[in-house]
Amino acid sequence: MKRVALLRHRGYELPALKETMLRGLDGIGFSLTSFRGARVVLKPNLLSASLPQSAVVTHPHFFRAAAEIVIDHGGRPVLAESPAVSSLGNALKTAGYAPVIKDLGIPVADLSKIGKLSYPAGRRMKSFEITRAFFDADMIVNLPKFKTHGLTYITAAVKNLFGAVPGLRKSQMHLKFPEKDDFCSFILDLYGAFLNGFDPSKTMVHIMDAIIAMEGEGPGTTGRPRAMNAVIAGLDALAVDWVAVQVSGLDIRLCTTLTEGFQRGFGITSGEEVGVVGETIEEMRVHDFREPQKPGATRFLRVPLIHRAMKNLFTDRPVPVAGRCTLCYQCMQICPAHAIGRAEAGERTPRFDKSACIRCLCCLEVCPEEAISLNKGPLRWMMQ
Ligand code: SF4
Ligand code: SF4
Repeated sequence: MKRVALLRHRGYELPALKETMLRGLDGIGFSLTSFRGARVVLKPNLLSASLPQSAVVTHPHFFRAAAEIVIDHGGRPVLAESPAVSSLGNALKTAGYAPVIKDLGIPVADLSKIGKLSYPAGRRMKSFEITRAFFDADMIVNLPKFKTHGLTYITAAVKNLFGAVPGLRKSQMHLKFPEKDDFCSFILDLYGAFLNGFDPSKTMVHIMDAIIAMEGEGPGTTGRPRAMNAVIAGLDALAVDWVAVQVSGLDIRLCTTLTEGFQRGFGITSGEEVGVVGETIEEMRVHDFREPQKPGATRFLRVPLIHRAMKNLFTDRPVPVAGRCTLCYQCMQICPAHAIGRAEAGERTPRFDKSACIRCLCCLEVCPEEAISLNKGPLRWMMQ
């Protein structure tokens, strides 16, 4: 049985948040003495340069509470994260992390230093280039934000580790695995590598920011902040994610990182192996939590979308919205399929080439202006 602490918590005020985290760590039987003398990587979700209230990023006070706990107990924290598109410096500044790391003297991992993590049992990939700081650490404290995700349905503890892959290597992975199932399988390979690829293996603890989560068209600014008022902690990422999904009321069958993770036996094989301490799932359940639009398409349609023409008919495609777009071209930088080009004279949005688009929705994730909407494929529109 994997223990997961599910704790009610409203707001991001310190020191109350720190106390809740300490209760969570105690609830899962984590010994704080293991921080003593340890180099501890703190891995928040800093998807992009977004304000804390947007719910795109792990809240800076959440990060601060975890960092202070590590320091109070003799550990040496290092922040390791690679945003999808903006520079790390920009993301740290906009998301409110800059004063925290300055106050606490926390170094930031150098993203140009890379290590190779092997996982021969991987199904889609057997070797991963990740930020070197993860190799140098004794322990990893994963600090995911609970959000919906247009491609993978949710992003939580398992998916948060994707940020260990630095910079634009991430969008190359989207190009390599454009379909949801393949991409989730790749994410699970990466998780398997974190569990089995280090020698000696590293303790990982997952503390999820589900206080203000994200619903709808996440994980970027097109999603909507939604109060879940929960801090969820555990030593097993699948177990933590399973609890978060149960609380949100989202459809577990669409969470491929969970369903395939269970099949692959990464720690647990079903939700029945999770022991929840603190509040009960029923007490914490939120109602009408909005799921992302895109996975709905595959729910009605269980045939493989192999051909591009079929894909164009059935899947939603990103469309830039004139009037909101500021022509910052962050979407163009991230697009792994080079399907976005510069606007021509007089045009107010970049040019999107729908035939080249692989529907990874990276552009939607990174657009800082909520200037990309999803147009339904014509057959999907008719079916609905
Ligand atoms: S246009 Fe957007 S959804 Fe299409 S491939 Fe590029 S980043 Fe992905
Ligand atoms: S659609 Fe968004 S990301 Fe792309 S250029 Fe416009 S504002 Fe920037």
